[in-house]
Amino acid sequence: MTATPRTPLSGQPSHTSLTTGGLPTHEATPDASSLLEGASLSPSRAADFKTCPLLYRFRAIDKLPERPTPEQARGTLVHAVLERLFDLPASERTLEQAITLLPGEWERLRVEQPDLVELFTEEADWATWLESARPLLASYFTLEDPRRLEPAARELMVEAVLDGGLRIRGIIDRLDVAPNGQVRVVDYKTGTVPRQAFEGRALFQLKFYALVLWRTRGVVPRVLRLLYLRESETLDYTPDEAELVRFERTLRALWQAIERAIRTQDFRPAPSRLCDWCAHRSLCPAHGGTPPPFPDLTLGMAL
Ligand code: SF4
Repeated sequence: MTATPRTPLSGQPSHTSLTTGGLPTHEATPDASSLLEGASLSPSRAADFKTCPLLYRFRAIDKLPERPTPEQARGTLVHAVLERLFDLPASERTLEQAITLLPGEWERLRVEQPDLVELFTEEADWATWLESARPLLASYFTLEDPRRLEPAARELMVEAVLDGGLRIRGIIDRLDVAPNGQVRVVDYKTGTVPRQAFEGRALFQLKFYALVLWRTRGVVPRVLRLLYLRESETLDYTPDEAELVRFERTLRALWQAIERAIRTQDFRPAPSRLCDWCAHRSLCPAHGGTPPPFPDLTLGMAL
């Protein structure tokens, strides 16, 4: 594994409490645990619930559509290029090659994700936007030399069933495995949310992956690494077994809280700085909005 600048971390990231505010509760659904049978928890949705239960509801239960913003689309594109880069022979993994991959990956994504097509109506806007992905790729090359890396996996789908039946799953940007078997989980961050506002959520996501890997492979990852491409910063975290045991307990408690919220149809808003990036602000009571009626989960909605 290559050495990169690192910021050591210690302790647990802080998170917004699970419930705040005082909205009235609604009529209960018949049996939340049976409704959740077969459901799974991803790090994104788990972090949503921790950040704001109402945001979780909007995304996981109401399944309200969220049109990608140009920034989100740029992140998707940069992720795609960084994945594709490792298809090239090691000696060809240069910044110039990465930039060459941009238009082709964008075309591929547009086919796979039709809502991206509507992002740009003017050719000039698209060209400017595409150009804006270059600094993120340039930043990546200041953090790592991909010619010296052979990832064990990219865009790796992982899933584990915890004691008690909770299924957790997610997609890991990149997994590196050293010759001595040590595992490193790498996640690329390209967003415009300030790192400080985002760091707890990002680490939660990496611990989630670490737990899945530990449960499925029996190995605690040596390093959880976040590459912040906007700020050209690397942030490393080293988990240990005791911490992952605690984290597993946290996830179970979180799942119970989700079950409880479904049973009571009580998902409260938890306003924070992240409201500025929330796609559903206009429906949020904390900002003067009204949520849609709670869906009928007995209709077999997948969570
Ligand atoms: S606007 Fe803020 S409080 Fe409301 S749902 Fe979104 S994140 Fe939660």
